[in-house]
Amino acid sequence: MKMYNPVTEEVVEALKAAVGVEHVFTDPESLDKYKTDEETDSRFFHTPEVVVAPGSAEEVAAVMKIANKYIVPVTPRGAGTSVSCGAIAVCGGIVLLMERMDKIIEINTDGMYMIVEAGVRTVEIQQKANEQGLLYAGDPCSSDSCLIGGNIATNAGGNKAVRYGTTRNQVYSVEVVTPTGDIVELGARLKKKSTGYCLEQLIMGSEGTLGIITKATLKLLPLAPYRLDVLAIFTDVEKATGIVPILVKAGLNPTSVEFMDNGFVRSSSDFSELRLPHYEDGSYVIITVETFNEDELDSKMEQLDELCNANGATDVLEADDRVWTIRRNCLESTRILSKVSTSDDLVVPVNKIASTINHLTAVAKNYPFRVFSLAHAGDGNLHFQILKGELTDAEWENALANFHAEVYPYIYSLGGRISGEHGIGSKKVEPMEKYTNKIEMKMMKEIKKALDPNNVLNPGKVFNM
Ligand SMILES: Cc1cc2nc3c(=O)[nH]c(=O)nc-3n(C[C@H](O)[C@H](O)[C@H](O)COP(=O)(O)OP(=O)(O)OC[C@H]3O[C@@H](n4cnc5c(N)ncnc54)[C@H](O)[C@@H]3O)c2cc1C
Repeated sequence: MKMYNPVTEEVVEALKAAVGVEHVFTDPESLDKYKTDEETDSRFFHTPEVVVAPGSAEEVAAVMKIANKYIVPVTPRGAGTSVSCGAIAVCGGIVLLMERMDKIIEINTDGMYMIVEAGVRTVEIQQKANEQGLLYAGDPCSSDSCLIGGNIATNAGGNKAVRYGTTRNQVYSVEVVTPTGDIVELGARLKKKSTGYCLEQLIMGSEGTLGIITKATLKLLPLAPYRLDVLAIFTDVEKATGIVPILVKAGLNPTSVEFMDNGFVRSSSDFSELRLPHYEDGSYVIITVETFNEDELDSKMEQLDELCNANGATDVLEADDRVWTIRRNCLESTRILSKVSTSDDLVVPVNKIASTINHLTAVAKNYPFRVFSLAHAGDGNLHFQILKGELTDAEWENALANFHAEVYPYIYSLGGRISGEHGIGSKKVEPMEKYTNKIEMKMMKEIKKALDPNNVLNPGKVFNM
């Protein structure tokens, strides 16, 4: 990895001149606050040398110019909800906070778009769109806390991706500060475009390694007035996830198909202080259907009921918000069971999700840790939560490495990948390098080198330069 210069007094003074004295932090408390994101394993923590909070694209650009002049690394940070160590300053240097850039600039109901700064919280965008009878379809489970810039940088998925696609499908254009400190608008508010390379799509999902997103024009959709949440309960995991292709083929076009195994049902129900039927033995599948017509909703409910029962559901219930509370609290609930855990984010073709969950659950039985699984089942995206429990650091590291050495090749053999939505961050750089096609990896590195010749923007993420 490239060696960087330390952040000297001269660099700090240059940063203060760029963003204002009150927005540059070097006190130990502030630095300590940003040593991690959602990562709980202290072996991955890195304390930055300075934290800056710019208030405009121009100030972000000035920070990048300073970073290039002095060769110090910059780690952009949204809300720090990354579960792949994406927002950790693994090479030290500057952590660049986006939280001051939090304005909604325009909501246009005729054109059906919203222009926002990168530091706006996702939930605020969702709510503001709903107030206008419109839908912003990006919906990661962390939407209460994460920022839209972080969602775009990671191409976040979430609960509605099965119907509307991931974050990259919700964005017309992005304003970006390049690694060398230029400001550029990429993309356009157009339904179609075949005019040169699609650079906005290259930036989206690049995890802050190719540019810093400062503003975005988001797509809005008509908000369906009728909605139904169904909780289908199964005691057989394969039958639970096997319902996905059946729903898709039946033309139900669900907004969400979320799966939780019984481990997650129990831990999250306990954490949420809620009890729904079959807490003791059920795996839950939440299916949401939204329509513009009440009769259509009724007929879809009937169809759903029939399909779930025909495919082995123990119970099919109309659900309320409690089921979503349980779903949203899944990750957090495991913290009570184990201070340290890791979240795998595997993605396979949708028709292989059931057999994958079964296979991995069987494999995990040979290891000394507890494993819970949940899935954005409609997207083929499986989250395997692995709990360290009482294992020593050495036992944990060894068991995890062996488990991944068994699981990752299996996932690739199915045509899958090691991240469906959380990104590679710094945590999965090693398997990324190992399992990615060599030519594909070379292309990625050449793009990075061309855009960031000094490798100062978010180094140590996605792959090693
Ligand atoms: C409880 C919980 C539930 C979650 N559920 C989901 C889910 O359903 N779907 C999902 O996809 N993810 C989920 N996540 C993961 C996480 O919330 C997402 O990856 C989210 O998009 C990160 O946004 P953030 O603002 O917190 O970004 P951060 O964590 O701060 O940063 C994430 C990455 O983006 C980069 N970055 C941040 N802002 C910018 C910017 N403006 N420009 C360029 N790069 C930037 C950072 O450098 C880092 O690499 C969940 C996390 C938690 C803790």
